[in-house]
Amino acid sequence: MSISDTKKIVPASLVEEILGLKEARRAVLLAHNYQLGEVQDIADFVGDSLELSRQAAATEAEVIVFCGVKFMAETAKILSPEKTVLLPDLQAGCPLCDMATAEEVRARKASLPGVPVVSYVNTTADVKAESDICCTSSNAVKVVESLPQEEILFLPDRNLGSWTAEQTGKRLIIWDGYCITHQRILSEHILGLKEKYPDAEVVVHPECTPEVRRLANAVRSTSGILRYARESSASTIIVGTEIGILHRLKKENPEKVFLAPSALPVCPNMKRITLEKVLWSLEEMVYPIEIPEEIRVPAKRAIDRMLALP
Ligand code: SF4
Repeated sequence: MSISDTKKIVPASLVEEILGLKEARRAVLLAHNYQLGEVQDIADFVGDSLELSRQAAATEAEVIVFCGVKFMAETAKILSPEKTVLLPDLQAGCPLCDMATAEEVRARKASLPGVPVVSYVNTTADVKAESDICCTSSNAVKVVESLPQEEILFLPDRNLGSWTAEQTGKRLIIWDGYCITHQRILSEHILGLKEKYPDAEVVVHPECTPEVRRLANAVRSTSGILRYARESSASTIIVGTEIGILHRLKKENPEKVFLAPSALPVCPNMKRITLEKVLWSLEEMVYPIEIPEEIRVPAKRAIDRMLALP
């Protein structure tokens, strides 16, 4: 099934208002690859978690409006405490994040003395504060390889964890969390499309289950999927991740066909951010993210260790 992206016609006046206010507030708009098409189109930068973290750390803007989910805005605030970081909808959370609490991580660490903790950035600030180093889906392998230890506690995504263990050969103790959106990508959906489009290539996100990953030509982060699409000679590509990425894939590769496995992989939290909410966010300066220093400082250490890797 070919799924169109979520782009819709938006009033020019709404876009003008946002852009005018953005300038007046000296703000920058950062958007994740899973955001609605119209939100991506007005952003100053669109990228994956790692790219967005780097942008947040480097920007000279006074205000960051984060078009993504809460842990991403928290990461921006951890890196740039002097800036105002706004999340246009406070309900835009991440169920995967909520599958590991700081208390649970502390208890697990106590039972594994000497075992370092690698946290996917899809964690709350206080879980990051309990971690030795963070990772994203684009650098998880590099992060795990950078550690001298062979045994590592990896959290919270079991699929990214099993993929990283396969790639590195290290003994990962893997938390039992998962992304509800990527869990909806089923091998039967991929097989059905492959039957219909036998020449199509398959690229999927590492948050997909091992069964789905085994059917793929490549396993990549969202930025990796974008690169794969640019470089592949295939004219049809089946894309196993949240369908918001189709917007950018089609925009950057108008001559190629991109197919989503089904209409199911939609992250309802990512889709909470609308242009209207971005405008209200700039008008009312809502919702500011605040993180206590005793959590921010150790959380920043874990993120900085990741960012320091080449
Ligand atoms: S796509 Fe999955 S991991 Fe990403 S924000 Fe949505 S629920 Fe969380």
